[in-house]
Amino acid sequence: MNNNDWRLTNQMNYLFRKKLIKGAFKPYREGWEHELCEFCAERIDNTTDEVYSTEDRYHWICKECYNDFKDMFEWEMSNHSL
Ligand SMILES: [Zn+2]
Repeated sequence: MNNNDWRLTNQMNYLFRKKLIKGAFKPYREGWEHELCEFCAERIDNTTDEVYSTEDRYHWICKECYNDFKDMFEWEMSNHSL
């Protein structure tokens, strides 16, 4: 993992030290059947059984990117559930 990873853009501005919820994908609101990972833009939908989101369920991170970036972003786990 390094700072030149192609997946990194400006996520530090809004994801650094955020609390994340781990769970299965649920739409932010009805009609939004999928989201894209904030880092790699992989599709996240209801076939995704492990995914991470911010507490407002606005930003989504796939499992692989979570594992790759968790040290850099110093994420904490939220007590909330999706
Ligand atoms: Zn990803």
